[in-house]
Amino acid sequence: MTDEMKVGKIKIATASLAGCFGCHMSFLDIDERILALLEHVEFDRSPITDIKRIGDCDLGLIEGGVANAENLEVLREFRRHCKVLVAFGACAVNGGIPAMRNSFDLGDCLRESYVSGIGVHNPGVPDDPEIPLLLNKVHPIHEVVKVDYFLPGCPPSADAIWTFLNELLAGEPITLPYTQLHYD
Ligand code: SF4
Repeated sequence: MTDEMKVGKIKIATASLAGCFGCHMSFLDIDERILALLEHVEFDRSPITDIKRIGDCDLGLIEGGVANAENLEVLREFRRHCKVLVAFGACAVNGGIPAMRNSFDLGDCLRESYVSGIGVHNPGVPDDPEIPLLLNKVHPIHEVVKVDYFLPGCPPSADAIWTFLNELLAGEPITLPYTQLHYD
C-alpha cells in the first residue's frame, strides 16, 4: 500500500468513458481472486456497484478516452476525488479505437453516420439535450488530467490487472512481466 493510501480497506472507483466496457470485463475475469481482493478494497462509484456519484477514493481506474462533454466532467470529478488515477487500457492510454475518428472532421462523421451514409433511414443528427455533446477529437485521458499510472492492453489481461493491483496496493514498483505486456 502506498503512503498516499490509507491504512485499512482502500476505496476504488472505476468508470468507462469512451470505451467498450471490455477493460471492466477483463477486470471481472480475475474470477475468484476478486474475493481475496475484496478483503483489502471496497468499491465506490463503478459499473460493478452502480453507485452514480463518486466519493473520496484512494484509487480510480478510468477506461476509455475522452470523446464528449460528459466524459470530461466524469474524468475531472475522478481526478478531484482520487488520490491515484490510472489510465486503464489502450483507449484511456492513447484514445484507442474511438480515436480513429480523429482523422476525420466531426461534421463529416455525423453526416456519414446519421444523414447520408449507406443504410441510413430517417436521416437526422440526434439533438436531444440529454445526449452529451461530442468533442471535435477523442483525447487520451492524460491530455485532460494528471495520470499517475498507465496500464496498457486492449484490454489489459486479468493477470496483468491482478499483478498491477497487488503491486500497487503493496506499495511496490509495478513490474509487469513480458508475458503480460505483449499482444502478438
Ligand atoms: Fe474496449 Fe480495448 Fe478500449 Fe478497453 S482498451 S475499452 S477493451 S477497445
